[in-house]
Amino acid sequence: MRIFLLLLVILFSFTSYAQEKPKIITSFSIIADMTREVGSDNIELKTLVGANGDAHEYEPTAADVKAIAEADLVLINSLKFEGWMERLIKSARYNGKVVVVSDGSQLIENDPHAWQDLRNGKIYVENIKNALVEIDKIHAGDYQKNARDYIKKLDELNSWVKNEINKISPEKRNVITTHDAFQYFAEAYNINFISALGVSTGTQASASDIAKLIDQIRSQKASAIFLENMSDPRLMKQLAKDSGAHIGGTLYPDSLSAKDEPAPSYIEMFKHNVRELVKAME
Ligand SMILES: [Zn+2]
Repeated sequence: MRIFLLLLVILFSFTSYAQEKPKIITSFSIIADMTREVGSDNIELKTLVGANGDAHEYEPTAADVKAIAEADLVLINSLKFEGWMERLIKSARYNGKVVVVSDGSQLIENDPHAWQDLRNGKIYVENIKNALVEIDKIHAGDYQKNARDYIKKLDELNSWVKNEINKISPEKRNVITTHDAFQYFAEAYNINFISALGVSTGTQASASDIAKLIDQIRSQKASAIFLENMSDPRLMKQLAKDSGAHIGGTLYPDSLSAKDEPAPSYIEMFKHNVRELVKAME
């Protein structure tokens, strides 16, 4: 009888172990989407900064501390994008694995928005896949296949983006964005972005910054001014009014949208941004 009970305990703990999914925390929505693509339903996924949230300026909650403390893996962008993440990991006393998914990307100094170049996006996916394989070897084959399929889609998207941008003559490729989130995009796809704010959304434009911007907009004949989903649109609306440039629409630089909005995934975000840019520059 005792042996039978012991076997039952072993069997029970084995099945509950086998069913438990690894708990993954991502800092913001873009990494979360990539992680879901690779992890599919083999993982339990939570993202701290969700749809339309601003990860530059996020204030972690008590629930975030708890989630980190219970995590098996934490995935971050780093490069000073989510500086609050380090403090959060410390206050949660989390000793598990933290993976910087931007590692190995082609970097632009002092600019954290590396995902805005799809070649870097593919490196993010590789890093996510390697991290998942390491903590959950049972599903290694799934993670490898999902990553392969997803990277193929990103390659196709990269060709599409280049094609679309190439339809626009180079002298028309000038646009104004809210914060400086598109340097990687600019480099990869040859568009000239002028931004009202710095690489973080936490900065403010002074009166002389704005005067300088208006001169730039007029002298470079900028095609349009863009709003962004996670920032206050007032400054940009004022700039449009003062410079005479028109509002081109809303770009999604740092955050995905909700499901029923135009940019609910990394791939959809890219497509939406490119369509809006091309429309404004034509
Ligand atoms: Zn940003």
